[in-house]
Amino acid sequence: MVNLILFGPPGSGKGTQAEKLAAQYELLHISTGDMFRYEIKHGTPLGLEAKSYTDRGELVPDSVTIGMLQSRVDANPQVKGFIFDGFPRTIPQSEALDTFLSGRKTPVTALLMLEVPDEELVTRLLGRGQVSGRADDADENIIRNRIQVYKNETNPVFDHYAAQGKAFRLDGVGSIEDILDRLCEVIDDVLE
Ligand code: AMP
Repeated sequence: MVNLILFGPPGSGKGTQAEKLAAQYELLHISTGDMFRYEIKHGTPLGLEAKSYTDRGELVPDSVTIGMLQSRVDANPQVKGFIFDGFPRTIPQSEALDTFLSGRKTPVTALLMLEVPDEELVTRLLGRGQVSGRADDADENIIRNRIQVYKNETNPVFDHYAAQGKAFRLDGVGSIEDILDRLCEVIDDVLE
């Protein structure tokens, strides 16, 4: 089994690349951001709880996020592996992921971090906001808060996997195809 974490700040292209990698390596793409948007759209209790955080660009509490992620993993025992997009975003989330993957005897294979300068992230997200209808992409203050939350709360996840020799940094600026090639080169090296 192959379990990849696609990592990076908001707007770094995780969703776009995760979709392509999922097709290429036959993995199940799990995006916690997409899962929250689905719950919010359908007005579920989980969605109502999540909305107050996503609207402000804050992280949804670990207790909610970890449970939601685990049920998606548990519901898919037959897959060849997972590509996690937007999870884990905190150290407790990383530890929870390690624990339930080790229960399946399939640890994290690699974490791939897409690096993009802050000002390019803001430009990309404001552009996406004009077409996506995402409230958290429409307001520059919320975008800047999401980038700050990433730096403060999410960045340590890189070190958690670097300590296991599993974390890789990649240049996230360029065409979609070029970035995909960079990702595949690292993944193929790790899988050799
Ligand atoms: P994303 O689509 O990954 O940018 O996520 C959109 C929003 O969903 C984030 O700003 C958070 O409010 C929430 N979210 C997504 N994934 C997580 C996570 N792993 N932990 C906490 N909150 C999350």
